[in-house]
Amino acid sequence: MTEEYDLETLAVRSGTVRSQFNEHSEAMFLTSSFVFENAAQAAARFKGEEPGNIYARFTNPTVTMLETRLAALEGAERCVAFSSGMAAIIATVMGLMKAGDHIVASRSIFGSTVQLFSNILGRFGIETTYVSPTDPNEWRKALKPNTKLFFVESPSNPLTEVSDIPALAAIAKEAGAWLAVDNCFCSPALQRPLDLGADIVIHSATKYLDGQGRVLGGAVLGSQALMEGVYTFLRTAGPTLSAFNAWVILKGLETLSIRMDAHSRNALELARWLESHPNVERVWYPGLPSHPQHELAMRQQKTGGGIVAFEVKGGQPVAWRVIDNCRLLSITANLGDAKTTITHPATTTHSRMTPEQRAFAGIGDGLVRVAVGLESVRDIRKDLAKGLEA
Ligand SMILES: *Cc1c(COP(=O)(O)O)cnc(C)c1O
Repeated sequence: MTEEYDLETLAVRSGTVRSQFNEHSEAMFLTSSFVFENAAQAAARFKGEEPGNIYARFTNPTVTMLETRLAALEGAERCVAFSSGMAAIIATVMGLMKAGDHIVASRSIFGSTVQLFSNILGRFGIETTYVSPTDPNEWRKALKPNTKLFFVESPSNPLTEVSDIPALAAIAKEAGAWLAVDNCFCSPALQRPLDLGADIVIHSATKYLDGQGRVLGGAVLGSQALMEGVYTFLRTAGPTLSAFNAWVILKGLETLSIRMDAHSRNALELARWLESHPNVERVWYPGLPSHPQHELAMRQQKTGGGIVAFEVKGGQPVAWRVIDNCRLLSITANLGDAKTTITHPATTTHSRMTPEQRAFAGIGDGLVRVAVGLESVRDIRKDLAKGLEA
């Protein structure tokens, strides 16, 4: 199944392959290896002359169904699934780059990605320069002759800054570099980076793709040629997605579109309410006209997504009061779950940054991030109102 179907249809049906039993729902294949008819077939499979399964580190029918479905949703030639989002990111670098290469990355990316780029890749001779997610000129200025990769998340965490993906893609292309977009916050239901000019899409499937906080997973998507290197890394190094996790995410994708619409509806209503609240200093949500990149976001994304950040008046004590007064919302750093989660970035996800780095990134002590779930928005609002009005 390909592009002739709408995304909602692809999310439910693409990639499905039935076994000899003709099961309706996708089967979970819990097996580490596959049997060959004879020695010649084994030889042909290993040589790559005959398609088919060999060994579950790099081939499993349930994982393949997920990869096919995700590729259809992102409009990619090929998808390679991984055990987590971080595994997908390291595989992208290890599969496509070498010592001496240079990365230009947004400074507003996932904390573990910064640690990976700066502390681990740095030891292997791959250098990273961090720039503003919202100023394409900084990306151009950061270019070096050895720049191989642009890496961005849009919208960013926690401030939902939106990057101009077509503009970054044009700069990367001119420089002979690839643009990779971590599409975790939007999912393909809201944003398709490859259509906007990106070369590579990366997912933490742990978030909205599963959508119910059950399993870890990751994926890298792009052209056949680029994914060959990424797949070779998977096959050789083994950061493999389990068949069970693939099956859970495959089922999660069936509701992706309706979930993303509902997350976005709830988030927009919550953001509007927060913006009018006297004890809230400022709200960041791409769906609000007050968001600095609102127009760009509405060009690039179907909706504003499910993440809302707001700065309370009164700094950390008030932010913590809001969090501690929640009875419904979960105090956890995860996101993309049916259950609404609430965090204080300055003392959790972004606590490894120095106060100066946080101030530079705009992450204040009064900032609260809410990953808006699928509960009634009235109940979510009531939970937040207790701490805001205490
Ligand atoms: C969670 C997350 C990751 C890492 O994914 P894991 O599945 O936890 O390894 C990467 N990027 C973004 C934007 C994330 O939110």
